[in-house]
Amino acid sequence: TRSLAEADPAVFAGVQHELKREQYQIELIASENIVSKAVLEAQGSVFTNKYAEGYPGKRYYQGCHPSDEVEQLAIDRAKQLFGCEYANVQPHSGAQANGAVMLAMVKPGDTIMGLSLDSGGHLTHGARAAMSGKWFNAVQYGVTPDTHLIDYDEVARIARETRPKLIITGGSAYPRHIDFARFRAIADEVDAIFMVDMAHFAGLVAGGVHPTPFGHAHVVTTTTHKTLRGPRGGAVFTNDEAIAKKINSAVFPGLQGGPLMHVIAAKAVAFGEALQPEFKSYAAAIVENAKILAATLKERGAAVVSGGTDTHLALIDLTPLGVTGKDADEALERAAITCNKNGIPNDPLPPVKTSGIRVGSPAGTTRGFGPAEFREIGNMVADVLDGLKKNGEQGDAQVEHNVRERVRALCERFPIYPEL
Ligand code: PLP
Repeated sequence: TRSLAEADPAVFAGVQHELKREQYQIELIASENIVSKAVLEAQGSVFTNKYAEGYPGKRYYQGCHPSDEVEQLAIDRAKQLFGCEYANVQPHSGAQANGAVMLAMVKPGDTIMGLSLDSGGHLTHGARAAMSGKWFNAVQYGVTPDTHLIDYDEVARIARETRPKLIITGGSAYPRHIDFARFRAIADEVDAIFMVDMAHFAGLVAGGVHPTPFGHAHVVTTTTHKTLRGPRGGAVFTNDEAIAKKINSAVFPGLQGGPLMHVIAAKAVAFGEALQPEFKSYAAAIVENAKILAATLKERGAAVVSGGTDTHLALIDLTPLGVTGKDADEALERAAITCNKNGIPNDPLPPVKTSGIRVGSPAGTTRGFGPAEFREIGNMVADVLDGLKKNGEQGDAQVEHNVRERVRALCERFPIYPEL
């Protein structure tokens, strides 16, 4: 019955520090967002106590009627949101969702194909360090050196040569729309299953401002915590009944034990929010804001990979400024702006340094920043980068101090979680 503050002051202090950080830093990490109080509440609910192995109506434990209610809500809302027939909302994360597809559709040693890490792909799409790269014969496609767009001719060529069982597209740092129809045609030609990992842009699909993978992909995976603005977690969707059955068995009992019912309750809330008309304007604002951020950084001398963005994120190439990604993200954090260093296509620098940063608009858009604020943010980022250009890795302390003050003022004008 004791509150967290009373029962465990040390952990409470950590939570308070995180709250203040989120309230007073500008969040440009493209994979992050700021969930509603309702999502937080569902995730902090008594469902954290419940074991509900199985699926609604077919559980291995008693006492699962309330779990059935919320999981069915999450499934029905997800299906409505994306216009698909089957949804599994149990994966604990995006990595588990992708692992479940592999467990369902391929066998160890089979060939799988995905976008390479250095072209913006994800670890779970066959990178050497990941299980997907160790247990499968993973082949990777990339982007063209000049346009930085997926090299579809290379995709077709590698597919014909290696005949993968599973072709994956989607990524973590790819700023452009993907030609899903072209991928499906290539997959059909070599009899592969075509999977789209829409983790990053799922909220844009839900909001109707991004092409949908449904109608092209055999199976679609996502995280629920990025543009979709739900709790940390994953989901898998399909329109194919046979695939849906295999996916359900792969998630449980194949890969996971008890579902995180508190997270599934929060997923249901987030899907419900994404079905509201306001979500469409939020999604449109995300894309507009990301374009403004990218354009401002370009005007201030950085290069933008692929020349711009169609989505919520931009990959900024700092080479023209003579600044590394590592120095940039550290200096920006000193100035209360959070982003991550990120390799650019054919990056000459190692992953611990990189030539780029990835920036995104979802969290800022959620707190209410519009075009004027994103222009200002772009200029603040550029001021900090100019400090690094002038002084090397220690940057310009005065500039960073000034930016910190401007960030504080902006965050105070657009408060988050005031009631906390
Ligand atoms: N897929 C993509 C495209 C991602 O960007 C990510 C997260 O970065 C994941 C999967 C993995 O999600 P999680 O971190 O929830 O395991």
